[in-house]
Amino acid sequence: MTSFLGFAELCKKIEEISGSIEKTDLLASFLSDLDGAELSVVPSFVTGSVFPASSKHLLGVGPSTLYDALAKAGGSSTKEIQDILRRTGDVGAVAAEVVAKGRPSTLSSFIGGDSLSILDVYSRFLEIARASGKRSQGVKMKHLRYLFAEAGPLEARYIARLALEDMRIGVGEGIVRDAIAKAFAASPDDVERGYNFTGDLGLVARRAKEGRLFELKAEIGRPIKMMLATIGADIPGSLAEMGTAAVEWKFDGSRVQIHKRGDEIEIFSRRLERVTGSLPEIVSFVREGVRAESAILDGEAVARGEDGRPLPFQEILKRFRRKYKVERTARLIPLELFLFDIVYLGGRSLIDEPLRERRRLLEEVADPKILAAQMVTCDPEVVAGIYQEAIVAGHEGVMLKSPASPYAAGKRGKNWVKIKPVMETLDLVVVGARWGEGRRATYLGSFRLASPDPDTGRLEDVGWVATGINDEMLAELTDLFRDLVLVSGEGMEVEVKPEVIFEVAFEEIQKSKSYSSGYALRFPRLARVRDDKALEEADSLERVASLYATQRGRDGPGSG
Ligand code: AMP
Repeated sequence: MTSFLGFAELCKKIEEISGSIEKTDLLASFLSDLDGAELSVVPSFVTGSVFPASSKHLLGVGPSTLYDALAKAGGSSTKEIQDILRRTGDVGAVAAEVVAKGRPSTLSSFIGGDSLSILDVYSRFLEIARASGKRSQGVKMKHLRYLFAEAGPLEARYIARLALEDMRIGVGEGIVRDAIAKAFAASPDDVERGYNFTGDLGLVARRAKEGRLFELKAEIGRPIKMMLATIGADIPGSLAEMGTAAVEWKFDGSRVQIHKRGDEIEIFSRRLERVTGSLPEIVSFVREGVRAESAILDGEAVARGEDGRPLPFQEILKRFRRKYKVERTARLIPLELFLFDIVYLGGRSLIDEPLRERRRLLEEVADPKILAAQMVTCDPEVVAGIYQEAIVAGHEGVMLKSPASPYAAGKRGKNWVKIKPVMETLDLVVVGARWGEGRRATYLGSFRLASPDPDTGRLEDVGWVATGINDEMLAELTDLFRDLVLVSGEGMEVEVKPEVIFEVAFEEIQKSKSYSSGYALRFPRLARVRDDKALEEADSLERVASLYATQRGRDGPGSG
């Protein structure tokens, strides 16, 4: 039994060094001493996931539950906890301080400090994930309090970070894969392949230890990492590079990977989460429209509006997240399915088959009603025509795929190229900001944006931006806005004097009830701080509305 303290000491060492080779070596030597059960959890733990994404379990611990549990276990007030958080910017540091301070006054001072094993911590997290229903909050609290009461400061540091699934020790999947290869003398390519087929680092580590990596294959019920696309600059250039391309619409929906065995159907989202229960009509489309005893299919689920056009992305997300009242939401937001790939059929993996062959098999088994149309061509005019059709129909653009390419699970390569319109940017006024969390607690990390209404002259909100800001900019922006703070509002939010203009890029403008303008930006990111622009030069709501109306070929307001 390996103690959790041993794991925490490893994390601390890894956190303190910056070189990835050294991190890999430390992790490899730790992994090589673990038994099978421990090996199932540690590779995920170090990346900050308690369970692999494909697991049926979701931890579901939010910061406030965590702070409550810490406060109760350590005898501190919520205010004290917030203060330490502001000062250190790290939940781990908060937990360590609270536990250290609480020890003399609580029973836990009698406990040695390394009484928890790695598997004890894992099994408590499992109980937390299993808690459901009305009493789930209480159950989660109970287990968190237990963990913090048993833990010493160093253990508490990493239990807290694990609970929020943010380890901050600079270990990503790449380092874990290399460490597994090193620990068990396996080839890094074999480890990566195993991981792309299973999405489960713990399972890969176990098989590597047993010398059975080669047994990891695409399997029904275990999601495969999805093949991804790179952005192509334009149609002629991308086509010239690829030669002949299989061209499909780039649908505006959400990715689904569907596993079918007989009547049993399981659906995974792009992040390999299980979403079967939320998407009953996709299940029936596949049950009725796929003539194969067993298959793994890849495609896009699209929410269809009354006018036949795809609904905005946020609508489809409502479907994917929905756990209760699924049928009702399904009536309001019906889905269509467009299958574009098949990676497993009747007991055989098709991963290494060329797309051309996979497409032939897909057409053989799938009803055309649920199939994405595809055209193989080397003519840029033809591709431009398909692109126009896609945009007019409200979709995103086109995908160009190399007909000879295998299915590169988990890879973003040149064999799938996406072409979509470049979005404009908006110059917006910063009217508020929010103190960051964790490492960013001492910085203003996100900014509330607004656009002037030309009729009233009032600034109306269009949302928040937090992306596109590096550490250096955080410090600069915090200094810049510190002097502009008008009101420290509820919790972490402040109102700032409207003086600074941000040029903000985004993927799409959506209608939204959340903001006073009635619009919201999808995936906003800070492109530039426009110190050269005065408030009057900010883009007005009129421009937001007209960009909204023209994007993706959407008809303007008031037209048919
Ligand atoms: P992006 O999210 O912009 O990187 O684009 C890749 C995503 O486009 C995929 O993950 C799919 O969800 C989506 N997509 C839409 N249509 C297709 C298609 N015909 N082939 C592959 N992916 C598609």
